[in-house]
Amino acid sequence: MVSQQYATLNRTNDKMPLVGFGCWKVSQDEAENTIYNAIKNGYRLIDGAADYGNEVEVGRGINKAIKEGIVKREELFVVTKLWNTYHNKAQVRPAFEKQLKDLNLDYVDLYLIHFPVPLKHVDHATAYPPGWYQPGKEELEFEPSPMYECWREMEHLVDAKLARNIGVSNFNVQMILDLLTYAKIKPATLQVELHPYLQQKRLVEWVQKQGIQITAYSSFGPASFVDLTVDGKTASPLLEHDIIKEISQKHSKTAGQILLRWSIERNVAVIPKSTHEERIKSNLDLFSWSLDGEDMKKIESLDKRLRFNDPFSYGFGLPLFD
Ligand code: NAD
Repeated sequence: MVSQQYATLNRTNDKMPLVGFGCWKVSQDEAENTIYNAIKNGYRLIDGAADYGNEVEVGRGINKAIKEGIVKREELFVVTKLWNTYHNKAQVRPAFEKQLKDLNLDYVDLYLIHFPVPLKHVDHATAYPPGWYQPGKEELEFEPSPMYECWREMEHLVDAKLARNIGVSNFNVQMILDLLTYAKIKPATLQVELHPYLQQKRLVEWVQKQGIQITAYSSFGPASFVDLTVDGKTASPLLEHDIIKEISQKHSKTAGQILLRWSIERNVAVIPKSTHEERIKSNLDLFSWSLDGEDMKKIESLDKRLRFNDPFSYGFGLPLFD
């Protein structure tokens, strides 16, 4: 089995695997097998979300692996996320409990606020997962749920031993700075988009200084996003970039491995998603080799501040990251 490395989280000292498996866009049909197979291949962290619409099937895959004795529950690190329509202090606990029931687990290892965007509540029976818009509408409807109330409810999940750690996703420095003024439990992690086209060096350094572990999503840059033009900017696929190809030849590794290892070199965790057996294996094989200073310098030159997962470019009219 390939080796794994871990980050030690603040407060609990829990060991979070630096490489996990991402569940976004894994179809309901494929999810049970894909997650089971990922665990069988050595993945110990599973990154899900209510919004991915596959938690029942992800839970089946996890439970199948546990039942077959491939892994014990305590050896797994299960991550999931609170969706935007459940930020209201009355909705956090019921939303979490539905997710836990869907996953068929007793607790999660890490629960994240998916986006710092409080949207008007949508009842589970009306639509699940509800996505960004109210059913039948095509514009965002916010609700006045302050983040400090939402975070307090997240803390109560820790008190109730339902979530071992809590954290945030898609938060910027201002949001985290504010959160730290009232948090009784500091966020354990921040999950954000990070790849050589969007390096966010200052954010990464500052957040790490606060003792908050960072996880990168969309490590392959444009690979997850259909259109390579964002806000009028275009970019060639990172996986085929000459510099990445050159470094991958130098180390006899795939371009995907180079992009993942680049985050590991920055002490940032990664959560690649793939349904191909070969890639599932190679994406996990990141610890028996490393990039050198020269490689890191070359990759640093690729920064374009090019963000793909931006609610503004989806046409929601919300410039979240400005
Ligand atoms: P990813 O960077 O994992 O890329 C996925 C794409 O790359 C897929 O099309 C896959 O087939 C392909 N791929 C995977 N391994 C490859 C390899 N070795 N070589 C070439 N192609 C390869 O992107 P992602 O799905 O955007 O992000 C990963 C995970 O991050 C998600 O599954 C999800 O769990 C999480 N995520 C979180 C947020 C958030 O808002 N918090 C947003 C996006 C993704």
